[in-house]
Amino acid sequence: MQHRIVVLGAGYTGAVTAGRLARRLRREDVTLTLVNAEPDFVERVRLHQLAAGQDLTPRPFAELFAGTGVELRLGRVAAVDVDRRTVRVDGAAGREELGYDSLVYALGSGWNHGGVPGVADHAHELASRPGALRLRERLAALEAGRPVVVVGGGLTGLEAATEIAESRPDLDVALVARGALGDWLSEKGRGHLWKVARRLGITVHEHTAIAAVAADRVTTADGTALPADVTVWTTGFAVHPIAEATGLELAEDGRIRVDSTMRSVSHPDVYAVGDAALALGPGGKPLRMSCASGVPMAWQAADALAARLTGVEVPAVSLRYFQQCVSLGREDGLIQFVTADDRAKEKALTGRAAVLYKELICKGAAWGVAHPTGGLPSRRRPLVRRGLRDAAPAEATA
Ligand SMILES: Cc1cc2nc3c(=O)[nH]c(=O)nc-3n(C[C@H](O)[C@H](O)[C@H](O)COP(=O)(O)OP(=O)(O)OC[C@H]3O[C@@H](n4cnc5c(N)ncnc54)[C@H](O)[C@@H]3O)c2cc1C
Repeated sequence: MQHRIVVLGAGYTGAVTAGRLARRLRREDVTLTLVNAEPDFVERVRLHQLAAGQDLTPRPFAELFAGTGVELRLGRVAAVDVDRRTVRVDGAAGREELGYDSLVYALGSGWNHGGVPGVADHAHELASRPGALRLRERLAALEAGRPVVVVGGGLTGLEAATEIAESRPDLDVALVARGALGDWLSEKGRGHLWKVARRLGITVHEHTAIAAVAADRVTTADGTALPADVTVWTTGFAVHPIAEATGLELAEDGRIRVDSTMRSVSHPDVYAVGDAALALGPGGKPLRMSCASGVPMAWQAADALAARLTGVEVPAVSLRYFQQCVSLGREDGLIQFVTADDRAKEKALTGRAAVLYKELICKGAAWGVAHPTGGLPSRRRPLVRRGLRDAAPAEATA
């Protein structure tokens, strides 16, 4: 009997987990099924570029996973039954049920409209490819001088506002931030953001909360109306509701609670990684939804699951931050170096050097997905023939 591993979601973290498992486990021992809604990899960290009119490199999974032993199943995950250990998938051929022995949940996140009136109906999102493509079409149809408001002063908002302002200097772009612009960054980082905003003609509304969105404006909490032919909502990500229906233990924000090996704290045969999981980083601080921590989470999940199945000591992957990489259009950027727990250090890179650094990071992340087994020699071990639950004592070595 082969051990059935099902990985849900082939974004950065699901694809990396599946590829790493394929490198660690023998094909005669396991089946590895990767379920994804779309046939190709979406480079999510570049969706603001897609929205601004650039084209992304197509990366079909059928090519990426050819010959790796990972079987791709195209379809939308509709439900997970953790008691029966089954996943319901809606695919082109209809509904099917997949059984698993070990599950890796990596369905990522979507946009978070926060229940603010009018957002769901009138604002655009950048968290998904369809959302980015809709925004791209809308921006392309805008005449010169028309107002665009980006709501959210976090990393995605900064990247979106600068990318749009750079690619469409004829538009009137504004950025709305709840706090001060880049208030979590170093002095150098903040100064650089202001410099870029001025150069690109972006109007910054600091200490401003948006209370409502309409088709032609946003209204601030103090009642001021800001004209907006297009509103881009980037105030954070939210996990898909599927997790909530599983019965897995969740954190308040809906993420699946996992231990230091990315295993569900309530269901030992389920692992969760990426935006869908809440893992603790240095100092016990929850890791934020990001590729920066998601990919190491994927390494950890794959290594821990493979180790438990093959009866070796569970290795520990370092889950820490080194930098925050912010693109500020194609010509500028900011690399903010941070402590292990993500607090800004004084040191930051700006300008061309930052553009190159960020490109290297983005290309590296995509390379990891495009080369699922890493081009590295496999270290496949035979499975220990016992149930996963029996392997629980190995926890002591984690
Ligand atoms: C514009 C933008 C810029 C960003 N920039 C950065 C950055 O510079 N640095 C950084 O660290 N992070 C950045 N992020 C965040 C980063 O993209 C996410 O944290 C990362 O993609 C999370 O990886 P994931 O694998 O958990 O989820 P995803 O990459 O979202 O992958 C989830 C996968 O699951 C699939 N899926 C979802 N639901 C279903 C379903 N029901 N059935 C089947 N398949 C499904 C999706 O199609 C997708 O393939 C950015 C995000 C955005 C939107």
